[in-house]
Amino acid sequence: CGVFAIFGHPEAAHVTYYALYALQHRGQESAGIASIDGGKLYHHRGMGLISEAFHGEEQIRKLKGHAAVGHVRYSTTGSSEIANAQPLVFGFRQGNLALAHNGNLINAQQLHDLLERQGSIFQSTSDTEVVAHLIARSHYDSIVENIRQSMSMVKGAYAFCILTDDKLVALRDPLGLRPMALGRLGDAYVVASETCAFDTVGAEFIRDIEPGEMIVIDANGLQSSFFGGKTRKALCTFEYIYFARPDSDIDGYNVHAIRKKFGKLLAQEHPADADVVIGVPDSSISAAIGYAEESGIPYEIGLIKNKYIGRTFIQPSQELRSLGVRLKLNAVRAIVEGKRVVMVDDSIVRGTTSGRLVKLLRDAGAVEVHVRISSPPVTHPCFYGIDTSTSGELIAATKTIPEICEFIGADSLEFLRLDTLLGAFGESAGENNYCNACFHGQYPTEVYEDTSKYVLE
Ligand code: 5GP
Ligand code: SF4
Ligand code: MG
Repeated sequence: CGVFAIFGHPEAAHVTYYALYALQHRGQESAGIASIDGGKLYHHRGMGLISEAFHGEEQIRKLKGHAAVGHVRYSTTGSSEIANAQPLVFGFRQGNLALAHNGNLINAQQLHDLLERQGSIFQSTSDTEVVAHLIARSHYDSIVENIRQSMSMVKGAYAFCILTDDKLVALRDPLGLRPMALGRLGDAYVVASETCAFDTVGAEFIRDIEPGEMIVIDANGLQSSFFGGKTRKALCTFEYIYFARPDSDIDGYNVHAIRKKFGKLLAQEHPADADVVIGVPDSSISAAIGYAEESGIPYEIGLIKNKYIGRTFIQPSQELRSLGVRLKLNAVRAIVEGKRVVMVDDSIVRGTTSGRLVKLLRDAGAVEVHVRISSPPVTHPCFYGIDTSTSGELIAATKTIPEICEFIGADSLEFLRLDTLLGAFGESAGENNYCNACFHGQYPTEVYEDTSKYVLE
């Protein structure tokens, strides 16, 4: 998912609306904005892309106030339906709350059961509502304390933006699994999952929000504090590999630059005898350019993506996924015909994309297809908000690299080694700063193996 929030701007909802467009790649199932004006909460949520969820100026203008929070969703807990769209809004004894959450709570089911036994009535099946109930039931006089208290009970990955009647609270889980940054737009503060949202609305990046940091913004300015105790840091490496936009900077590294470096390292580690290097749009272009630059093999555009179809993996079902891939990409015959092609992709998850693309390239006349992947094989499910929650779906969980190579029909297949990938971050950024659990199964939190997306249904 993607979150954005702003405090102290006369056009808060408008700015949020534009910023969400910059975060659209982080979720395409639903979109929403909530704003607060003088103790009154306004909100609009809809299914699909932002352009589908919102229809025209009028709707945005109704979202009054100087503070707003927005969300684009891609579901990792709870199905894709309007009840699960965010921001989640509710009122309780301390006023209004609007919550926008990126990530996945691993103990949502446990907390949900506990809360239900104690009388809570749930309206959605998303893990975010659990947090809403925790906040509503906390008994401090200060809403900020109630939020802090609630966050100490949830485990997993989260970046939250929470709007109250007079405050914006932004917090990032103690491991920093999901990214979140702080910026400034004139006199207003802004918070976003990725810095590309700041560029889009003309805001200035101030800094990343730290793991375990809670930022409270109100009429008196900004206050920072830490919660949850000191742990290791575990930012998701997949944010760099695949998920984030190349023009974003996350925790000190530009995403494009890092991907390009992955590509260079991949070329050193796994060279190929070939005539042309191509990348799988959009997320692998940077790595393919790096591979070409390092290997001296010319970079070409050999695959064209239909821009008007969302990311395949964001479609909820396997049937839709398979359909999406065929609609989505086409080979450029003039480029690949008669050529030995290196096809760089950022990851192999289920293995369906690579297989289809290899076939596409061969059908377009490629004589050899060498697949190079700018990340290690994904062997373990993710419990933190990237949509690979069962190991049954992961091709590398059951097949060796030669078997995957055969499955996708490539002439050769190689993956970037994990230690090489981490080397791209330089000496200061060792294994301990990143989550790499889907590559080796060493999760930075406890996990509940039976967790499925539909646990709360
Ligand atoms: P798959 O191997 O599942 O067919 O898809 C891998 C390709 O789709 C890669 O090009 C990657 O960019 C994208 N992709 C699809 N689903 C996911 C996912 O759940 N996680 C990641 N990291 N990439 C995915
Ligand atoms: Fe990211 Fe993988 Fe960790 Fe999930 S398990 S947070 S995808 S690195
Ligand atoms: Mg891709």
